[in-house]
Formats: sequence, C-alpha cells, structure tokens
Amino acid sequence: MNSVLKFQYPAHSHRESAPPFKVYTERTLHKIPALARLPEALRFEIQVVASVLPFRVNEYVLNELIDWDDPYHDPMFRLVFPQREMLEPADFAQMAALHQQQASREAINALASRLRQHLNPHPAGQLALNRPQLEGDTLEGVQHKYRETVLFFPTQGQTCHSYCTFCFRWAQFIGDKTLRIASNQVDSLLAYLRQHPEVSDVLITGGDPLVMKTKTLAQYLEPLLHPEFAHIQSIRIGTKALTFWPQRFVSDADGPALRALLERLVRGGKHVALMAHYNHWREMETPMAEQAIKAVRETGVEIRTQGPLLAHINDDPATWARLWRRQVHLGMIPYYCFVQRDTGARRYFEVPLARAAEIYREAMQQVSGLARTARGPSMSAEPGKVEVQGVAEIHGERVFVLRFLQARNPAWVQRPFFARYDPHATWLSDLKPAFGEARFFFEQE
Ligand SMILES: *Cc1c(COP(=O)(O)O)cnc(C)c1O
Repeated sequence: MNSVLKFQYPAHSHRESAPPFKVYTERTLHKIPALARLPEALRFEIQVVASVLPFRVNEYVLNELIDWDDPYHDPMFRLVFPQREMLEPADFAQMAALHQQQASREAINALASRLRQHLNPHPAGQLALNRPQLEGDTLEGVQHKYRETVLFFPTQGQTCHSYCTFCFRWAQFIGDKTLRIASNQVDSLLAYLRQHPEVSDVLITGGDPLVMKTKTLAQYLEPLLHPEFAHIQSIRIGTKALTFWPQRFVSDADGPALRALLERLVRGGKHVALMAHYNHWREMETPMAEQAIKAVRETGVEIRTQGPLLAHINDDPATWARLWRRQVHLGMIPYYCFVQRDTGARRYFEVPLARAAEIYREAMQQVSGLARTARGPSMSAEPGKVEVQGVAEIHGERVFVLRFLQARNPAWVQRPFFARYDPHATWLSDLKPAFGEARFFFEQE
C-alpha cells in the first residue's frame, strides 16, 4: 500500500532505526486518510502552511487524539496541523500562489527559506548565547544558561514523534544544519560536567530524546551514575512521548529496556524527572496514555508537567484547571505554565500577558493546593524566566508585578520588579519599566 510511509529524519541527522509507527510529513500530507474528509480548500491551506512550518504527525495522534468529526474546533488538530492564520496574510498569499502555479520544489523551498527569516527562528538569542566552552572550544549540543542546570541536545534526539505547530524549536526541524543545536559528543559533555561541580541538574532535551533507542540514551545517562558525577543529583528528560507515542513506555519492543534504564538511574541515587509536555487534558484521555504514566511512575521516576498557554488551544481557565487536576489525579506534578515564545506562528498563538495572568489566576482558584505547584505564566526570555505575578495599582499607576523564577544572574532570582501596564503586551520586550524609571534593574547601564 502506498500509504505505508518511510519515516523521514531531517537532513544531517544520525538515523536511528525506523520507529514502529506510520508517520506523515509535508510531502505525504495528501495521503492522510482522514484529511480526505475535509473540504479541498482547507487541505490546500494546510499544504501551503506546511511548506513553511515543519509538519509531522504519526498514526496514534491521527487515530486516537484528533476528533475528526469537528477538526477545526479541535485543540488536538490545531496542535499538529498547520492553519492558514499561522502565516502573515501576505506570506500565505505568496506561498499559495506558488502552489497554484505548481511551481518547482526549488522555488517553494527558496520562498519558504525567505519567509522563515520573518519568523524569528532563534528566540532569546539561542544561537549565540549560553554556549559553554571546553578548553577554548565551544561545546556543540550543550546550553548552560542557569548555574545549576546544563541542557544537553543529543544528535539522535533532535526530532519528535509528531511536531507541535507552536514549537519554539521549529527551526531545527527544517533540515538546515546551521539552525540545529545537537551533539553526539558524550565525552565532551562528561568532560564539561567534571569541570563544573556547581551543576546539579542535567536536562536532556530536543526535539524529543525519547525518539532515541534506549541503548543510545543509556550511553548519555549511565555514565552519570559513576561516583565522579555525584554532584549531578537530578536528571531530567524533556519529552512529549507521553502524548504523542505513549507506547514508547509500554508496548514498544524497546519499552522494557527504557523502563529498566529509568529504574537503574533511580536506584543509582539520581532524582529522575520526566519533564512531560502537555497542552490539553485531552492528551491524557486514552487508555494507552494512562498506562504509560503508570508505567513511568512504577520505575520511581517523577513526572513533572509543563507547556505554554496558547490561543486556540488552551486559553481559558477551565481547560487549565482540568489539565492540572487530571495530572495530579494521575500522579504527576504540575511544574511550569509558559508564555508562548516570540517565534514561529506566534501571532496565531499569542495571548496578552494581562490575559495570561488572569487565566492562570482563575485556574489556580479552581484547584487544590497539590495542583498549585505550576508556576507561571512564565516567559523564557534572554535574561531569565520571568513570571507575571499579576496586575496591581501602586500610587495610581497600573503595573505588572513580575519576578525572575530563574535568571542568568542568580542574584536576580525572586526579586520583584514592575512594568507599566500594557493590555497588548505579549512578551518581555514589549514592556517598559514602571514609575518613570529608565530601565529595568537587570538591564545594563
Ligand atoms: C527552564 C530552563 C532550565 C531549567 O530551569 P529550572 O528553573 O531549574 O526548571 C534550564 N536551562 C534553560 C535554558 C531553561 O530555559
């Protein structure tokens, strides 16, 4: 059957063996059986946007998560399927014209590259900042921004089971090598950690490191059990596999090996946390998703949850309250509620900070204390993670009350500061200091 598709990793990646599920990409979009039920005009729009923003979806998401009776109002559909409004109208029109003229692949790719430049592919200075040095060389695939925590991007983990339309790491999925942050240099990671006793946490991320075979993952993580890495107390694994391929932990051929690895790390004395990405309670509704959560918990690994607040997907308090309640019920710990970053299809997803703070507060009011562990709404900005605590009036001036949850300079952490209220602001860069100050305390003179 021609709908049996080869899994395509982006160019330049080190290919692992094929995954045990069908995957559709931009090139094979037209073969998705359920899409045939949508009007032709809508399918065309999806195709146009998918030639600019990365697209990938697997059969589990298609068959188990999306409500095909009403896809256009379905948060799971919007989570993975490109929508017309994700591009600026002028950009959409240009790309649509090329498709209508049946332009060549080269022409489409060339326009796609130009349009991507408008989409701030590297928010918060990711390409230039936070790149650590080892003996005078820049370490590939490592970011070290906050003193305690090193982020590691293994080469083989730089893709995902499906792609989210809002992903802030979207630029690394389009096959452009200069945009990818990745490493297969386990030795240089370990050498760096040896030299940095102040680091207590390693966060392995992507992409999704759980697209990797357990054998590969073990090469990165097992050395950390050695006594010389006793200072590495916590290992975090960032993933959306609990949503996009829960079989990974349960029925996959490699499932038992993964669970055994997690158990070895826990028994070896590490605090191991799966940083599970969630956007909607619908992601936790299938029996397979529930089984996977249970299987992970049985290894002694904690599951902490995080995800951005997104227009069209979860921008109301009831959705967040239900999401957090369900997570606590299933034994997970809500961790972060993020503000959508200023990149990619941000205009489609962005929510004003004032509204985000209101949604967060109203959701918190509906849940018990066990679900109030989610901090936010938090902006992962260049100086650090900035939480919008709320809006207040101080001596007649309306202000945002803000604080750093995490900061480039540890001395900034937990210091409250104030910005002039602006109902339209969606990011830290839109904000001005309150009370007539010239700059925020963390800005250089
Ligand atoms: C969020 C984040 C971390 C982890 O911060 P915690 O407050 O410890 O959860 C580490 N590095 C970067 C670059 C981050 O954005």
